[in-house]
Amino acid sequence: MIFLSAHRKLILVAVIASFVSCGGGGGGSDSSLPSVIPSQPVSPSPTPTSPDASSLLSVTVLYDPLPKDARAKYLIDLGLNRPKLTMTNIFYKADDVPQSTIDGIENALQAAADYLGHYDIKYFAYGNTYEGSESVALEYCNLWQDQFDISEGRGCSRFTDNLADGFGSGNANAASPGFSVTEDHWVNSEVWKNPPNTIEHYVGDYARFVDVYSKIVMHEYTHIHQLRPQINTTISNDGNETRAMPGWFLEGGAELFAIIAVNEVNGLNNLDDEYLLNLNELKKNKYGLTSITERLQKFGRSQGYEYADYALGVYAVSYMISRADIQKVYMDLINDVYTKGWEQAFLDTMGFNLETFYQSFEEHMTQSDSILLAALPRPVNLKNSITPIYPIPRLQIEGASSTANSGGQPSVLKRTAYYFKDDSSMIPLYQGLSWPYITASSEAVINKESNITAVIEVTGSGYVTSSNLPLYQYNLDTTSRSALGEGVSDQWHALLPNGTSSENLGFKPKINN
Ligand SMILES: [Zn+2]
Repeated sequence: MIFLSAHRKLILVAVIASFVSCGGGGGGSDSSLPSVIPSQPVSPSPTPTSPDASSLLSVTVLYDPLPKDARAKYLIDLGLNRPKLTMTNIFYKADDVPQSTIDGIENALQAAADYLGHYDIKYFAYGNTYEGSESVALEYCNLWQDQFDISEGRGCSRFTDNLADGFGSGNANAASPGFSVTEDHWVNSEVWKNPPNTIEHYVGDYARFVDVYSKIVMHEYTHIHQLRPQINTTISNDGNETRAMPGWFLEGGAELFAIIAVNEVNGLNNLDDEYLLNLNELKKNKYGLTSITERLQKFGRSQGYEYADYALGVYAVSYMISRADIQKVYMDLINDVYTKGWEQAFLDTMGFNLETFYQSFEEHMTQSDSILLAALPRPVNLKNSITPIYPIPRLQIEGASSTANSGGQPSVLKRTAYYFKDDSSMIPLYQGLSWPYITASSEAVINKESNITAVIEVTGSGYVTSSNLPLYQYNLDTTSRSALGEGVSDQWHALLPNGTSSENLGFKPKINN
């Protein structure tokens, strides 16, 4: 059973090695954050005195999530807190890493992205020799230049000195600015202007352990998915350098997802084996802590990732899924953490608070192995169980004419703007009561927020257009925060700040209400 033991070793090492930045970042508290920039007043604008106040159109962005600081707003405007339609990955490979390895990794990355959403990845592949890998380590260091490069006065030698430790291990970590505890973590401030998602990975002997390596890639990609939407949530309220989400959730979630995804993508039929391995591992209680709860609470509380027990995390996240479902655990919760903080997002998603969860999980884990194993997730089709869905910023217009038209009764107040899929000219085709056309005086002055690149115009007939297509309101949007028309009948899609339709995002936009 050479393969099995090597396989096991790889898992353990990969798991241990993820700490460098399988986390690194983002506390969950709102209280310690820089002052909020409320770009979106919650209270509606006052009712205008004139019902035909259509001479001034204000075009603004309905942010979701509301950015907590200028940097977050910048990242949201760039679209970097949410996936793209497709991903383009860049590979830096050691001299002794064959192209077939890179091809295999590319496949694994694309498969993970098909489940969770597409983020571009810069992938740093180390091989089995120092000479072959040094240039890759230097590339990685030059990109990030984290604070330790400076504080230790060692420059990139910290990276190259550590190279030899990872050969033959499968070690990997993922990083992006969304991971860092503070904005000062990265000395190279240039990375903030177009922040990358990186995965660093020792892939020597890839061909011998394709499934294990595939799992590691998906584990790391799951971290990108977990942390990218947090937009550098910065420091927690207790002052510890915790991340936006606790270690057990980040690592257990990444590992569990990777186990299930690789099982499905590579047709392994190995869920039972993987789950049993993790059960045996967690039973070791390798740090000798007194309770399951203590083990979870201490998991990865520091940058050193002490008390990290990935196998226990796999069972804890599995238990969450058994109490809710995969979609809630891997999408809804992760999407809500930035706005609500971890504890409130957990409560709202799961329907009970963290303390109740710890107690309940503690009791759950006293049951027999067969009951524990039976309770683990075995989705028949993971792709059907998870729908990538993310919040998006949308464009809104205030000051439309309030004269009823063939689409319905428009509001002069700030409302989300939509495209109608059937339209192909500046004349709106919809007729009815639910989707009022946005109209204005052809002389209207249009005021746009500076970050909006959509071209908003008023036609000679008074239709307000973007990209030469008419715009609509939705009559069920009754507040300035509503975007309930998103995706209705698959025909109505919000106008995005860059002028495109939310139909073309490559994921399902979360609905505002
Ligand atoms: Zn990890």
